[in-house]
Amino acid sequence: MLAENIFLKIINRQLPAKIIYEDDLCLAFHDINPQAPVHVLIIPRKEIRTHSDITEEDKLLLGHLHLVAAKLARQLGIDNGYRIIINCKEGAGQTVPHLHFHLLGGRIMGWPPG
Ligand code: AMP
Repeated sequence: MLAENIFLKIINRQLPAKIIYEDDLCLAFHDINPQAPVHVLIIPRKEIRTHSDITEEDKLLLGHLHLVAAKLARQLGIDNGYRIIINCKEGAGQTVPHLHFHLLGGRIMGWPPG
């Protein structure tokens, strides 16, 4: 079972977070347990539990999240090399049941990922 959706609490300002960007569709904030010098989470305001739950209706939203990720990567100075990760469901390491992009950079990334 995935845990409680704490990201909704961040969206609703019931839980503090280091928010670095927000608009009418999404927000971005620093991960509380960074796995790289830059580790930002980008989340839609819309409640989507997992990547597997996206629908045709979400096409524009998903494109928007990617544009925000690219913009933030430039602003954060990591656009010489960054990685975007979406963990989908427990088997891939998803712990928060709200779709999110991990934007990681500032160090050399290994491959294959763990
Ligand atoms: P995932 O394991 O892909 O679901 O990613 C969830 C991420 O959320 C992890 O990298 C956590 O460190 C991060 N996280 C959990 N709680 C918070 C929080 N309150 N503020 C910021 N990041 C969080």
